[in-house]
Amino acid sequence: MAFSDTCGNALAKNILRKGLQKGRIPNSLLFTGPEGVGKMETALVLAKALNCLKKSDDSCDECANCRAIDRGAFPDVLNLISEKEMAEKYPETFEGGKNGKKPKENISIDQLREMKQTAHLRPMLGRKRVFLIGQAEQIDLTSSNTLLKILEEPPLFTHIILLSDNPYSIVPTIRSRCQILSFSAISREDVEDQLKRNGCGEQKARLISILARGNLKQAFHMSGEDVPDERKLSWIFLLALLTGEGSGELLKDFTSSRKEFREELVRMLEIMLTFIRDVMLLQGGGESSRLLNPDYALLLSGLAGRMSRDRILEFIGSLERSLSAVRKKANLNCLVSELFAEWMEKSYA
Ligand SMILES: [Zn+2]
Repeated sequence: MAFSDTCGNALAKNILRKGLQKGRIPNSLLFTGPEGVGKMETALVLAKALNCLKKSDDSCDECANCRAIDRGAFPDVLNLISEKEMAEKYPETFEGGKNGKKPKENISIDQLREMKQTAHLRPMLGRKRVFLIGQAEQIDLTSSNTLLKILEEPPLFTHIILLSDNPYSIVPTIRSRCQILSFSAISREDVEDQLKRNGCGEQKARLISILARGNLKQAFHMSGEDVPDERKLSWIFLLALLTGEGSGELLKDFTSSRKEFREELVRMLEIMLTFIRDVMLLQGGGESSRLLNPDYALLLSGLAGRMSRDRILEFIGSLERSLSAVRKKANLNCLVSELFAEWMEKSYA
């Protein structure tokens, strides 16, 4: 993957390409931005471009260096990951598991000490040594002192790229030593486009691009799942809220303490919002080709004929409030019960 193959964040990529052309890539970098917007992918392209044998401001993905970096087998480019991440990726390598030990969640001080030593050695095969450190906010205060020593005086041939979804949790002295490059959410159109390019059908791609809210990683994850089934369930939930139909059983099913429940509820509320926006579109005389759920056109127009504009707006407000509460970690059982209680009192018929 080269800069030209990564999606969105044109500004960040331009800054990096210009820096590469001028030979002025900062030695200590911090990539910030929400999860799933391509920070790690871009950092890897930068590591390749700094060592590419054919191109100077991008990776060619063909030369021996680019290919070795892609395979994770280039000695001068190192992606530091925690014991936990390592154990998840390669369970057979985690010795402690046999003794019932839990892998450490953070990058250890020993890893950083080793990095400090290596950072001062000239690259073995490439032009530059590059260290990538994801979830930099998880580096604790003790370890950050070791990291700080490298960031203060990095050799010219060494680049350290920190990545974080939550840069304000990074120890401030670390943050202030780095040049910060901000990444933003990928536009809905770009997400839809990427999904279609990767074989996702038009309608599914459109729906997922709305649900993923700029998180490309999540969009790809969702494209492998059965979204139509989730829509069916969300439709039943929506009708139950509006008509009271089957609400007793649903309440029993959905008030649950399962761990994944919060995520499922967020998705259902988001899908319900796509349905209700479709209802609004039909009521306003919009073309059915613009529906987010065109296969529900008949059911949606039935609903559009029975709901007043005010009621629709009220319902959207209520769903959005619930969505925001779920994200803020509200008590889910109470929230679902309250949502039902609120809407069972009202009848759209
Ligand atoms: Zn190359």
